[in-house]
Amino acid sequence: MSADTVLSLVRDDLRAFAGYSSARSSALVGDVWLNANESAWSNPADAQGIARRYPEPQPQALRTQLAALYGCSADQLLIGRGSDEAIDLLVRALCQPGRDAVLVTPPVFGMYAVCARLQNAPLLEVPLRDSGDALVADIDAIIAAALSGNAKLVFLCTPSNPAGSSIALNDIERVAQALEGRALVVVDEAYGEYADQASAATLLSRYNNVAVLRTLSKAHALAAARIGTLIAAPTLIQVLRRCQAPYPVPAPCTALALAALDSDALAVTDARVAQVKAERDRLYQALQQAPGVLRAYPSHGNYLLVRFDDAQAAFDALLAAGVVVRDQRAAPQLHDALRITIGSPEQNDRVLQVLTARRAAA
Ligand SMILES: *Cc1c(COP(=O)(O)O)cnc(C)c1O
Repeated sequence: MSADTVLSLVRDDLRAFAGYSSARSSALVGDVWLNANESAWSNPADAQGIARRYPEPQPQALRTQLAALYGCSADQLLIGRGSDEAIDLLVRALCQPGRDAVLVTPPVFGMYAVCARLQNAPLLEVPLRDSGDALVADIDAIIAAALSGNAKLVFLCTPSNPAGSSIALNDIERVAQALEGRALVVVDEAYGEYADQASAATLLSRYNNVAVLRTLSKAHALAAARIGTLIAAPTLIQVLRRCQAPYPVPAPCTALALAALDSDALAVTDARVAQVKAERDRLYQALQQAPGVLRAYPSHGNYLLVRFDDAQAAFDALLAAGVVVRDQRAAPQLHDALRITIGSPEQNDRVLQVLTARRAAA
């Protein structure tokens, strides 16, 4: 697929849009910068003067680090305020309101549908299918619905939130191939660090219509820094940059992210991911045996989706012990389910104490 075909997925009226030209984007050189109405002095609260000037729109040092982390080139990256911002940008730049649809696979992360609604893009829903031991993406149904429903964006969440299942790379490839020239396949890997398979970024060299979402919010423990990354064809990244806010990455957040990506911090993150995976397996095994648990789904993320005979009672018992979990009962197919994030071993023990003591008390 050539660069032109990926551009053809962008809204006609935005393809040549130049966007805002910020003071930072011109190629001027000097040592007295009086072109952006910034203060000449740092704020007393900002001892190192990190925040006095408008930041680089896409900080070069962070791009380099993220490209190394995610195994892509810097020109395939867009850094935004969480992957949430990238989802919003994709919907706005690709979907003509009232015409181009967004395909999602419920039960799934809610932001795709929220952004589609805000853009007045039709929403196509292809429910996850119960395979017997997991809720999985229905690849043939996704392809068929995308083709017949004029999907411009297909969101594949892997590992899926909240279902926990992964989509095999060859299935993602099958969707990308079937929708070449018609839709962008957006693979949301917010929990990719907890999964055992390679990133879909490895498909980009062959399929221009694949995009991948990554984030520092989950495994890297920087949710409040709001650093998300979109990985896609460079031509598409350039278009999205022009649609994005002029200074999307606050300098204090960049500093924090760079510190989190040095080798010592990365080693700590890796160790914590390994610990979460071990705890996830421990909790999964124990919950299978717990009274009142109908079913715990295997998970490739840092959470477990669990069905209960009485989800309200389980939720209340956990809450009474000070443990707040996510009630999933309003989501399609999940009328009896809670999602439990994997915590520290002590926190997970508290979950197990509550859930294994319940029947004894009843
Ligand atoms: C948490 C989450 C995100 C949002 O991540 P941010 O980078 O913090 O915006 C995206 N997708 C999924 C599936 C998530 O669960």
